[in-house]
Amino acid sequence: MNIYLTFDYELYFGERTGTAKHCILNPTQLLKEVADKHNIKLVQFVDVGYIIKLEEYKSKYPELEEDYKLITNQVKQLYIEGHDIQLHIHPHWEDSFYRDGKWHIIAKRYKLSDFGDENIERIVATYKQKLESLTAPDSIFAFRAGGWCIQPFEKFKSAFLKNNITVDSSVFRNGKYSSEQYSYDFTNAPDLSSWNFDNDPCKSEEGPFKEIPISSIKNSPLFYWKLFLLGRINPYEHKPLGDGVPIAAPGMRKKLLTQYTQNTVSVDGYNAALLSKALRQYKDKNELVIIGHPKSLTRFGLKALDRFISENKNKHQFTTFQKERNK
Ligand SMILES: [Zn+2]
Repeated sequence: MNIYLTFDYELYFGERTGTAKHCILNPTQLLKEVADKHNIKLVQFVDVGYIIKLEEYKSKYPELEEDYKLITNQVKQLYIEGHDIQLHIHPHWEDSFYRDGKWHIIAKRYKLSDFGDENIERIVATYKQKLESLTAPDSIFAFRAGGWCIQPFEKFKSAFLKNNITVDSSVFRNGKYSSEQYSYDFTNAPDLSSWNFDNDPCKSEEGPFKEIPISSIKNSPLFYWKLFLLGRINPYEHKPLGDGVPIAAPGMRKKLLTQYTQNTVSVDGYNAALLSKALRQYKDKNELVIIGHPKSLTRFGLKALDRFISENKNKHQFTTFQKERNK
């Protein structure tokens, strides 16, 4: 089986975004050390909107000049070392700004579909160009939507075609959520490892795009009680390394704590305890796509990931989108 370890390389987007150092740079370094130890490669979906904002403000604020330097150097270094750098778009950076020593996140237009056609074309083209200026021309061909909001895909189709973005990894089967910011519904996604699509990433048909969905798992409310409790009892092991707070997701916590929910197979925090269980559930499939966020990793999660790789690197192939494309 092909196992992809994919990460959304980004700050938090709530009241406090947290710092580049604690949300991105340090935890990514720790991840890189785990990957290096086992000689495997990671996929980083880089939130380019953040890098573009850093660039915009860096001449005015020395602290952002420093962040820009460290972040772009880390992305370049990851790419040089053979990790896969691909495109993650959080378009709300377009409306957000830096003032009084902090980022002010304006998330009224959180989804790419909240923008008009011209803006979508500009955002996809300029974000991809910016990322390729740190990697190499034509190296970016895979996409993950910010907050999983890849629908309605018809709105992005032409921008993706023009920019040669042909792989998406935003869908997770049976995931569904909507709020003021978020909107996704993957209840009709096929039960397949990957598929081609045309206008709808949840519909397998002839088309120029390929969906390689994030794997998903059904979790009990008990699991989340344990997750939240462990964070309180043993914060050293179970508190996320990032120092920000997430964007509000009304009703989400209550839902997780009171009913069975379908979630991504994830290395974030205590979710990493479920990696082997997820692998068993996917044993008849060709791919297991695991998601994570450097900011949401915990010490516990990093150790669980290390163990998971040790146990499986000889039985399965840890791979990246780039490696599979070059085969
Ligand atoms: Zn994201």
